[in-house]
Amino acid sequence: MSERGLLIVFSGPSGVGKGTVRQEIFSTPNHKFEYSVSMTTRPQRPGEVDGVDYFFRTREEFEDLIKKGQMLEYAEYVGNYYGTPLSYVNETLDKGIDVFLEIEVQGALQVKKKVPDGVFIFLTPPDLEELQDRLVGRGTDSQEVIAQRIERAKEEIALMREYDYAVVNDQVPLAAERVKRIIETEHFRVERVIGRYDKMINEKLSVR
Ligand code: 5GP
Repeated sequence: MSERGLLIVFSGPSGVGKGTVRQEIFSTPNHKFEYSVSMTTRPQRPGEVDGVDYFFRTREEFEDLIKKGQMLEYAEYVGNYYGTPLSYVNETLDKGIDVFLEIEVQGALQVKKKVPDGVFIFLTPPDLEELQDRLVGRGTDSQEVIAQRIERAKEEIALMREYDYAVVNDQVPLAAERVKRIIETEHFRVERVIGRYDKMINEKLSVR
């Protein structure tokens, strides 16, 4: 039987550019992990494809899956549900393939409780000014709303301590490269490979 894949949780404060870095990571063919398509109740944006970008569902359908215990995690973000369907994650990990989640921080903390041996990667802004510029750059928010978002981002940045790795998003290609290297290196951790060697060690001992 093959070893179970790693669950990779890529997260960070809102506005930090998680989606852009994730797209950069998956734009190159040299990755061995698979992206878990999330489910959401938010309206489909132009160009988005159901089943590729998200599974677009009604609130009723989403709540039904929560009740049935079929979401690994979920969160309400700006009035809509977002969550990770459990079955795809389990089936893929069982095949020995790593699964990559890109989710906001509340969801990531839920996964940490359920799957403590996952790989938790936190994307950080280079500084708060840059984050503020990005939030302002969205254009539509009032000063008060922007101030609230900054406060929220500060609280979210403090959650970094719950993660294993912090990757600064100074330049998208660099951030993507760092994430890929972390995932590769995680496979070399002794606790992840020791099982493979246990049998060999025992056999050697019995020969002596
Ligand atoms: P957007 O509406 O811009 O596509 O995504 C909004 C936020 O939801 C982003 O921070 C994104 O990372 C997060 N998100 C996307 N999918 C999931 C998910 O399955 N679970 C959780 N908790 N957050 C998600």
